[in-house]
Amino acid sequence: MNAPAPTDLRDWIRDVPDFPKPGIVFKDITPLLSHPDAFGTVIDRLVEAFADRGIDTVAAAEARGFIFGAPLALRLNAGFVPIRKPGKLPYATLALEYQLEYGSDRLEVHSDAFGPGRRVLLLDDVLATGGTMRACRDLVQQTGAELVACAFVIELTFLEGRSRLAPADVFSLIAF
Ligand code: AMP
Repeated sequence: MNAPAPTDLRDWIRDVPDFPKPGIVFKDITPLLSHPDAFGTVIDRLVEAFADRGIDTVAAAEARGFIFGAPLALRLNAGFVPIRKPGKLPYATLALEYQLEYGSDRLEVHSDAFGPGRRVLLLDDVLATGGTMRACRDLVQQTGAELVACAFVIELTFLEGRSRLAPADVFSLIAF
């Protein structure tokens, strides 16, 4: 199927009200992913933004962060590091607990994934409250690696997640 080139990437994001719980409007990226022009435009624009930043490693949290993180890493000639839910990584891990709206969650990364001085770009699909990315940022900084920026495909500006990530450099492609 030939889709026209997207003019506004927002047209490829579907709002799903009350998912996964009442009151949340979920930003569904599957329409964007299903159109190679739209998906390719997202990757092209991320490459444009970070090509000159000397990125050694792109790291992303499962699961939707992987979808954008892996192709971006290849295009930047950088490595890719998966940040995962507990118990998924086979080797020694570093872990970080973080607070959610209700309760807490935990992320893990292999202990040798980042070395001191490595220039790391963190990526996720959506910046909401910023809690998930803040945990990823802290994980990277624990290892002595250098966090270049936190990048997102979508930013929900009304939740002010960006302010929770200060002083990190925050970049997003599509703002709602
Ligand atoms: P945050 O509140 O920034 O920690 O967001 C938590 C995670 O949930 C992020 O990785 C997002 O991918 C996802 N997320 C949060 N809110 C939304 C939303 N409205 N639509 C889609 N994904 C969301």
